[in-house]
Amino acid sequence: MSTIAFLNIGMHGRVNPTLPVVAELVRRGHSVTYHTSPAFSAEIAAAGAKVHPYPGGDLPLPDPPTPPTLITGLTRTALSLLPTVLAELRDIRPDLIVHDSACPWGSVAASQLGVPAASSFTTFAYNRRTPSPTRASWELLTTPAFLRARLELSRRYRTGKLPFFDLGNIRQPLNLVFTSPEFQLGAADFDDSYRFVGPSIGARPADPSFPADQLKDPVLYASLGTVFAADPQVLRTFAAALAPLGGTVVISTGATDPAALGPLPGNVLALHSTPQPQVLARAAMFVTHGGMNSANEALYAGVPMLVVPQGADQPLVASRVAALGAGLALDPADVSVDAVRARAQRLLDEPVFRAAAAGLRQAQRQAGGARRAADELERRLS
Ligand code: UDP
Repeated sequence: MSTIAFLNIGMHGRVNPTLPVVAELVRRGHSVTYHTSPAFSAEIAAAGAKVHPYPGGDLPLPDPPTPPTLITGLTRTALSLLPTVLAELRDIRPDLIVHDSACPWGSVAASQLGVPAASSFTTFAYNRRTPSPTRASWELLTTPAFLRARLELSRRYRTGKLPFFDLGNIRQPLNLVFTSPEFQLGAADFDDSYRFVGPSIGARPADPSFPADQLKDPVLYASLGTVFAADPQVLRTFAAALAPLGGTVVISTGATDPAALGPLPGNVLALHSTPQPQVLARAAMFVTHGGMNSANEALYAGVPMLVVPQGADQPLVASRVAALGAGLALDPADVSVDAVRARAQRLLDEPVFRAAAAGLRQAQRQAGGARRAADELERRLS
């Protein structure tokens, strides 16, 4: 049996898909360590890994979170975390390092210690034809803070094949992509190192506070994810638009206080956080920001989406969902009660959307999920 170390940035969307893979590897008898922000310790321990929280607490996102600030932040974080992470890994002596595609310290640690590595993509995979939203190299060339930190990283450590600029898109000889080849943009253009293993869902601790037994069909669900603080006015608009169409309307407010939405129609349930896969299993449609995990989870459940992209890779997700017929896209500038309600009504009434989502549901399940990811990692070990 082997020892496998996971290294990740501290974001729900990056951590969630790895947890069922951790649980599967532990079930197969491997020993797993997981190095990330302390905020995720409970979920990781529940999946069966030994938790190594990063020193200094959670990693705040730079403000504003643009590609240059994000990549500069990742480079600086690599410099500050590597001494601790390397000391831990020297002690653990892993046979394999699995790091997120935006976790440069995972890649550097693998090169520095000469340990085989795999990269985990919870976004689309990117290449020349499907360029990564964080490539932004010309802006980084004129960002002195980035250049200083990046040169320092290369000076202090063996950085191997780490890209100089695009530290949000780090590949390895094995790249696990947590979507199906059908949803990935141009899957046929990727070499064999990319394995489209599909959504990895499960192994999340149950949330007994969620009133699942009180939901009335049709359940309509809206969320703008966990990273960006959602505008309460936008969430309120979703509530007003969906309430007349739904049995229960569930709104995940994320970092925004549910009380900031003000008084809501009686059939709207606004919560900081929901057990999303459980809600999607019941939902008739989903208004989403188009985070890749949210889209993957919705398609895993066969739920049509109205995608209102807020930034990052979300416009790409929105156009992919619309192109495959599994939903509609709406520019955030065009959000109004009428615009949201009209599109939601179409998603509920026109069977083509549910049919396209059902086709993708099949594809998402056939891709293999956490078990296939564990198989690929075991192959990389042998
Ligand atoms: N999530 C959840 N409950 C919520 C909102 C989000 O469990 O109320 C989970 C969701 O299932 C997904 C992740 O948080 O796995 C969000 O990731 P995504 O890539 O969709 O968006 P991000 O939050 O990174 O923008």
